[in-house]
Amino acid sequence: MPKNSTIVKQPLSADIKSRALGAYLGLAVGDALGAPIEFLTKREIAHRGGHQEMTGGGWLKLKPGQITDDTEMSLYLGRAWIETGGWNAQLAANQLAEWLKHYPIDVGNTCRRGIRRFMLDGTLHGLENEADGGNGAAMRILPIALATYGDDAAFECAAIEQAHLTHYHPLSDAATLTLGRMVHLLLAGQGVNACLTLANKLIVEHPQFRYAPYAGRASGYIVDTMQTVMHHFFNSANFEDCVVATVNCGEDADTTGAIVGMLAGALYGVSAIPQRWLNKLDDSVRSEIEFQVSALMKGVLK
Ligand code: MN
Ligand code: MN
Repeated sequence: MPKNSTIVKQPLSADIKSRALGAYLGLAVGDALGAPIEFLTKREIAHRGGHQEMTGGGWLKLKPGQITDDTEMSLYLGRAWIETGGWNAQLAANQLAEWLKHYPIDVGNTCRRGIRRFMLDGTLHGLENEADGGNGAAMRILPIALATYGDDAAFECAAIEQAHLTHYHPLSDAATLTLGRMVHLLLAGQGVNACLTLANKLIVEHPQFRYAPYAGRASGYIVDTMQTVMHHFFNSANFEDCVVATVNCGEDADTTGAIVGMLAGALYGVSAIPQRWLNKLDDSVRSEIEFQVSALMKGVLK
């Protein structure tokens, strides 16, 4: 596979491990923080005094710190990669089917439809579909981004195949690729400016994603999700402020929280994630994330 020459690989330092772990734990923490206020409006959340603690509750009646489909699907895709020793769309689909059989606490409609299609006829994608513009493929891209760090061609191939298992839509594809590539740049220590360049490229190709001026919508439509994520990621100075401001927009708060938590964790590193939030994550979730980061990046983290 050709290596991506635009990423300058840093020495195999603790830094990159801290960013990779920050990204995965940031994803989980953003998911768990946002999930109790999923589907509330920004006004309703503000009226309650805002949301910045792992309260649990919400429409899914969650335990404090409980993750949802965003983190779960990421973990299942990470397992597929680790067990296979690389990318295999069929085995990744098997893992998502496994997940669906384990009565997940929440499943998006498009994800359910795609996984059920695979379970019924074994196909790895449906037809391109106007209705597939949700954020379900983008929110689970992290394990693939970690595993393909330094190899953009391998990333692009696996990212698109994983996306099309459930979502076959040009805007979902564009967002999924952009997010994974932002993670690569952040892991490489290239910071926010490199991500801004990618965001601008996305907007040139698909002007729908323009996030300034910020329209204030945070729904599960990938355009709204990306606008909310980019607006807050590029207009905050630390992990906590970034994730709190994002989830307080409500609507698909667990998913915007998960995605922005992934980016902010990759930028600021794991030590920037508030300990009071990490403490609320399930021990089993936290240890699987730690295991997956090491296993997915075993060529890089030595
Ligand atoms: Mn969710
Ligand atoms: Mn969601």
